Amino acid sequence: MNWAARAVEKLPEVTALDKSYEYSGKVVIVGAGPSGLAAAKILERNQIDYLILEATDRFGGRLKKDTTLADFPIDLGAEWIHSDPIVLNKIKGVAGNTIEEDLVPYHLKSGAKWDGVKIKEVSKAELDFRYRFLPESKFKSSTWYDFVEENLAKSVKSKIHFNSAVTSIDYSEDEVIVKTVGGKAYEADRVLVTVSVGVLKSKSIEFTPALDGKKKKAIAAIHFRPGLKVALKFSDTFYHNAIECASNSGERVYYDIAFGKESESHVLGFLCTGEESRRYIEYSSDEALVQVLLEELDQMYTGRATRLFTGEYRIERWSEYEYTRGTWTQAFEENPNHLRHLNRPLNNKVFFAGEINDPYRQMGVPGAILSGYHSIDRLLSAP
Ligand SMILES: Cc1cc2nc3c(=O)[nH]c(=O)nc-3n(C[C@H](O)[C@H](O)[C@H](O)COP(=O)(O)OP(=O)(O)OC[C@H]3O[C@@H](n4cnc5c(N)ncnc54)[C@H](O)[C@@H]3O)c2cc1C
Repeated sequence: MNWAARAVEKLPEVTALDKSYEYSGKVVIVGAGPSGLAAAKILERNQIDYLILEATDRFGGRLKKDTTLADFPIDLGAEWIHSDPIVLNKIKGVAGNTIEEDLVPYHLKSGAKWDGVKIKEVSKAELDFRYRFLPESKFKSSTWYDFVEENLAKSVKSKIHFNSAVTSIDYSEDEVIVKTVGGKAYEADRVLVTVSVGVLKSKSIEFTPALDGKKKKAIAAIHFRPGLKVALKFSDTFYHNAIECASNSGERVYYDIAFGKESESHVLGFLCTGEESRRYIEYSSDEALVQVLLEELDQMYTGRATRLFTGEYRIERWSEYEYTRGTWTQAFEENPNHLRHLNRPLNNKVFFAGEINDPYRQMGVPGAILSGYHSIDRLLSAP
């Protein structure tokens, strides 16, 4: 059975979307990424009093789109649907197997491997095998950001307080007091924290009483990959659909962002995660980083990258952002005890959600959203 089919088997039959709740208290959600927005959608549907505190000036978290580099919108954060697209229906609460979204099956026609010296073609048999094992897809003319905006954010946007980074959560009394930068205080009966593990690791949110040893240990142990994403625009396509580069940790890949899209733009992505990414992230200027990538591509494709580069690019150094601090976590790589301790609520007043807290072990955005549904169900049902 392939990975995607196994992931579908783990999907819940019922989510918070299928239930109704009566709760008379006030809820504060920390973070307007996919999981915070999913939780908010449930509160909105059930007319529960809530607000969302978001550190930045936008919603979406690790989802971001660019509409200016190419003739189609580009995902600068999450991009692929890693499992069976049926997961999109589950997120929307739609029954059946018919997917409304127009998707591109990510079944590559060409691929290469780069060991730093030689570029080697990947056989069609290997490309076919990879697709059978992990049949990923992408949105054809939209993005993950659009999907989340349409299906989650639209109905809850008005409840987001932007530029409101949470600095402390005091759950020592009956009411929970949540403070933001600048000292503004919000009272809540229950709080849902959806920030990334990277943000929890940074200890920029102070909990009172302090988190216990097991939770602290879990936060320290869970691996949050550093990484960056770059999009480079060329006047023509000279590259394979994907070029996998040798890496000591995580992944390092160049890939045709326009693959399967109806597009006349030539945009090559670069995604690097894990320790290897630090050497790219640390380039002090964008120009220096782009130069290094062009040199790498010139070696692979005998000078064509520099010749065909239009000078336009986008760079997202995800691990450098204060309210992200990395790329993603993968629950299947982690110790289940750590996951359990991370997910444990504090005095049934402060709950946790987000990609790593997904009990159904999906990956990325779907996992984050399903965790939002799951954790808000726990929060509303707790004694
Ligand atoms: C480069 C990259 C590529 C990726 N590729 C894919 C992919 O192809 N497919 C896929 O499914 N997933 C992918 N992911 C992972 C996916 O983006 C995440 O799984 C998903 O965004 C997690 O959602 P979340 O709500 O748990 O956290 P986030 O998206 O991190 O949202 C958390 C929110 O909390 C806010 N916040 C943080 N600190 C505070 C604070 N102190 N106070 C208030 N608000 C705060 C943040 O600003 C953010 O809005 C990728 C991620 C990156 C970075």
